[in-house]
Amino acid sequence: MLALQGDFREHLLALAELGVLARPVRRVEELDTVHALVVPGGESTAISKLAVDFGLAGPIRERIAAGMPAYGSCAGMIMLGAEVLDGRPDQVTFGGVDMVVRRNAFGRQIDSFETDVELDGIGEFRTVFIRAPWAETVGPDVEVIGRIKGGRADGRIVAVRQGRVMATAFHPEVTGDLRVHQTFVDLARGYLDQ
Ligand code: GLN
Repeated sequence: MLALQGDFREHLLALAELGVLARPVRRVEELDTVHALVVPGGESTAISKLAVDFGLAGPIRERIAAGMPAYGSCAGMIMLGAEVLDGRPDQVTFGGVDMVVRRNAFGRQIDSFETDVELDGIGEFRTVFIRAPWAETVGPDVEVIGRIKGGRADGRIVAVRQGRVMATAFHPEVTGDLRVHQTFVDLARGYLDQ
């Protein structure tokens, strides 16, 4: 669990409820001990800056490129993209999903909202969006697993998967519904058991 900034405690609780031994990662030595990584929601510019300052950005990028399973929610989704729109010029990402992510994509007037999204492999899911991004474009190897239905953002991509990496623009860690976390844990275990 990347624990530099953001709502990593909620993710830790969700993972604990699933019986997963999850540890906070703030240093490279801690990264070296984990088999998979969750990147929380929060503020991607802060997570990016702290990851660079703590010397974690490069090592995380390398681990993900080498096949470490990873899941990111909201700011975490931004961190797992290839490119950020409306980010800060010095903002970095860890990569993992071949997508361009737009920060704060839903605009200010609907900064935060809840809606139901149909997620492939999971079903109907109550989602919470907090100044959320969306994936503006995705590469050919990216599986879109959820889109906004209806309204001005109809069709926008809010959940994706590419191989061992999953990302959602919403925050499943705040609703008590553990199916997204369970999906990631199953995905990660599937690879780790190989
Ligand atoms: N707007 C935030 C960012 O750009 C993301 C918000 C969130 O994680 N809830 O990182």
